[in-house]
Amino acid sequence: MTRKFQATHVGRVRRNNEDSLIIIEPETFAVADGMGGASAGEVASQMLVETVKEFLAETPPIWDEKILSRAIVSANEKILNMARRNEEYRGMGTTATILHLNDKRAYFAHVGDSRIYRLRGNSFEQITEDHSYVETLVRRGELTHEAARVHPLKNVLTQAVGAMDELNIDAANLPVENGDIYLLCTDGLTNMVDDETVANILKTAHNPADALIDAALSAGGKDNVSVIVVGVD
Ligand code: CA
Repeated sequence: MTRKFQATHVGRVRRNNEDSLIIIEPETFAVADGMGGASAGEVASQMLVETVKEFLAETPPIWDEKILSRAIVSANEKILNMARRNEEYRGMGTTATILHLNDKRAYFAHVGDSRIYRLRGNSFEQITEDHSYVETLVRRGELTHEAARVHPLKNVLTQAVGAMDELNIDAANLPVENGDIYLLCTDGLTNMVDDETVANILKTAHNPADALIDAALSAGGKDNVSVIVVGVD
């Protein structure tokens, strides 16, 4: 059994919400943060979640990280084709972060800088690694996580769905424990709100999704913000 919450908000600065999110039964969750001029970012992130939904609908629901990765590959082809056929969509792309839970395992597949976190007891951990320029610097020890959050190039991704022919999709699975809380989010949350505040909201809020959006807006809401929270009972 899981408790699920989702919310998205355009934020306080931007005119369009280029994020998309989706909950697919059984127990599958995805967020996507689109990029590109005009409305192209919205088109890319929406195509991502729609294609994942369609792909999974055609696949027997014994889904694992390989199936989730194939769903991303399928979306990559569709978005690339759309961008090649339409001048106004040239250069569009999107992050893709997908989680599927069963009783025992958490399966995920991921491209870009949206994130999955897991709260287990008092341990709050980022499960995904960002595919971003600043994360490359952090891994090399040239930048701290705190400095990365405010770095002028923090939005530069090293890969995005729909923007390149070949993707290096991160995919893995982890054991699930009762009481785990999973958070999927776009960077509009993590760039505005620190980990400690996010973890406290997950522990205490009646509706953690709405509370996380409120926290991002209170901190300035400089970007679109989207969250899905899944509590395992
Ligand atoms: Ca964003």
